[in-house]
Amino acid sequence: MKLSKYLLPTLKEVPSEADTVAARLMLRAGMIRKVASGLYEWLPFGLRALKKVERIIREEMDRIGGQEVWLPTLQPKELWEESGRWPVYGKEMMRVKDRKDGEFCLAPTAEEVVTDLVRREVRSYRELPLLLYQFGEKFRDEIRPRFGVMRAREFYMKDAYSFHADESSLDKTYDDCYAAYGRIFERCGLKFRPVEADTGAIGGKSSHEFMVLAETGEETIAACEGCGYAANIERADAPPPTAPTDGHQHDELKEVDTPGVGAVEAVAKLLKLPAEKFLKTLIYVADGKPVVAVLRGDTELNEPKLQRALAAKQLFKASEEIYRQVAGCEPGFAGPAGLNAAIVADHAVADVVNAVSGANKTDKHLVNINVGRDWRPARYADIRMIRPGDKCPRCGKAVAFFKGIEVGHVFKLGTKYSSAMNAGFLTEKGEKSPFLMGCYGIGVSRVLAAAIEQCHDDNGIIWPAGIAPFQVVVLPLNVSEPKVVEAAEKIYEGLKAKGVEVLLDDRDQRAGVKFKDADLLGLPWRVTVGERKLAEGKVEIKARAAGGGEDVPIEKAVDVLLNRIKL
Ligand code: ATP
Ligand code: MG
Repeated sequence: MKLSKYLLPTLKEVPSEADTVAARLMLRAGMIRKVASGLYEWLPFGLRALKKVERIIREEMDRIGGQEVWLPTLQPKELWEESGRWPVYGKEMMRVKDRKDGEFCLAPTAEEVVTDLVRREVRSYRELPLLLYQFGEKFRDEIRPRFGVMRAREFYMKDAYSFHADESSLDKTYDDCYAAYGRIFERCGLKFRPVEADTGAIGGKSSHEFMVLAETGEETIAACEGCGYAANIERADAPPPTAPTDGHQHDELKEVDTPGVGAVEAVAKLLKLPAEKFLKTLIYVADGKPVVAVLRGDTELNEPKLQRALAAKQLFKASEEIYRQVAGCEPGFAGPAGLNAAIVADHAVADVVNAVSGANKTDKHLVNINVGRDWRPARYADIRMIRPGDKCPRCGKAVAFFKGIEVGHVFKLGTKYSSAMNAGFLTEKGEKSPFLMGCYGIGVSRVLAAAIEQCHDDNGIIWPAGIAPFQVVVLPLNVSEPKVVEAAEKIYEGLKAKGVEVLLDDRDQRAGVKFKDADLLGLPWRVTVGERKLAEGKVEIKARAAGGGEDVPIEKAVDVLLNRIKL
C-alpha cells in the first residue's frame, strides 16, 4: 500500500477526547474516528488490525471444533421475554420498534437467539456437543462510554455458545475454550491472566475472565504470587480470620450519645476507637424481604456475595422508609441488637470483642456490644470485599491487587436458558432433557485497544507482529531523488511479491515527519532509504521495538527482512 493514496490521517496533536493511551494512539494513528459518544468509525489502518485479531480468534475457535454462524443483530422481544431478560436487562439494552409496532432490541448478546436456533434444529444427544460462534456488532447503552473503543456503545464481539448432553461434555468444551483463549491472547501479544469471576446470583457454575494487566483497567484482580490464585475482587473469597483480634473480657454494654454522627469513620473519630472495633449494620431487601448484613467496621460489603449467600434473585439497598421500619431509627444508627430481621454476619465479625454499633435509636450508639451475649446472627457467611494484604483463600499468603482490562469471558451457564426457553434434546433413554450450555465471549475491538495500551512507547504504537496492520514500512527519505524512489520501490515490490504486507511512505514530506509517523504507526520493521547510505549501496533495517538499526546491501534487504519476519 502506498501511503500517498491511503486514507491514513495521522494527527500530531493529542485529541482532547482521548482518555487513555490506547484511545490517544488509535486516534492519532488514523485507526478510528469518533462519530458520537461510544460510536466509532474504523479507518483502513485500524480495520486491518481488527481483522488480524478476528482471524486469530477464528483459527483458534475452528481448531477446537467451533462452527461459525451469523445470528441477527435485530432480535425480537418475544425471545427475550421467554428467558425473562426483557424486563431485567434495563437501560443498557437498545430497544427499537418496527413499522408494525413490533418490539426488538439491538443484540447486547445472543443467548436467546442461539438457544432458539438450537431448540428448533437439534433433537438428539447424538447431535451433541455443539459449539457455535459468530462475529458481530453488539450494542450496549453503557452509562459511561469511555476509553475509546474499550467501552463503546457499539462494539465488535466474538460470542460463542455450546450445547451439551452432560456435565463432563460441558467441562471439556469449557476447558477447550479456556485453552483456546490463552492461545488467542498470546498470539495477540498480550500479557494477560485468567481470573475466577463472579457467576451472579442466578448465573451458572463456573466462570473465568481473561484480564489484560494494565494500569487503566477498570477491573481489580486479587492475585496471590505464592500459589497463583487470581480472582476478580467481586468474586474473591475473603477467608475468616484464624485468631481473635481482641481480648476476651466482655465489658458492660453502654449507650453513648453520638448526635448527628452515623458513619463508622465519624463515630470512630468521635469515640477515638479504630474502625475495626465497629460493627457496620446494613439493611437490604432480598426478594422483597428485609435482611441485615453486619460487617466489621473496616471492611466493605460485597453485594454479589451477599446475594449469593441469600440465594436471592434480587437484592437492593433498603429505602429510608424500610430502614426506619427495621431499625426504628434514622439511617446511620442501626445496630444488630434487637432488630426484627434476619442477620447475615461476615466471618470477621465473630472475633470483635466489646464492639461499637448503632443503638437502633437516632443519635445513639452502643459500646461493648458482644456477639452471643447481646445479639446473634442467623448465620455467618463470607460477604465482604477482599483487601490487599488479606490472606489468599488457597494458600494463606498475602494477596495483592492489580488492575486489569477484561478482554474475554468464559461461563458455564448450565440449564439457565434452556430450562427457561424449553430447549431440550432426547437422551439415550428417549427422555427429554434441557441442554447444558456454556458461553464464551471476546471483545475483539477491546482486545485491539488493550494490546495498544500494553504495547507502546512515548513515540507511538509498537505492534505485536501477530496483529500489526502491516509488517514493514519502507521510507524513501527524499522522493524528489529518483534513485531513492527507485530503490525504495524495488524493496517494496520485492516484499509484496513475497506476500509481505508492506506500506510505502511515498509522500512528499520531510524526513522528520516520516520518521515521526513511522514511529507513531509502529509497524514491526522499518526500511529507511536515504541518499547517503544509498551511495554505499545500503539501506537501513530497524525493528520498531529495538534500539539500533542495521545497514544491509540493497539487494539483500528483502531476504534479510523475510528472515526477520517470522510470522
Ligand atoms: P464489562 O464488565 O467490561 O462491562 P461485561 O461483563 O459486560 O464486560 P460480557 O457480557 O462478558 O462483558 O461481554 C464479553 C466481552 O465483550 C467482554 O469480555 C469485553 O471484552 C467485551 N465488552 C463488553 N462490553 C464492552 C463495551 N462496552 N465495549 C467494548 N467491548 C466490550
Ligand atoms: Mg458490561
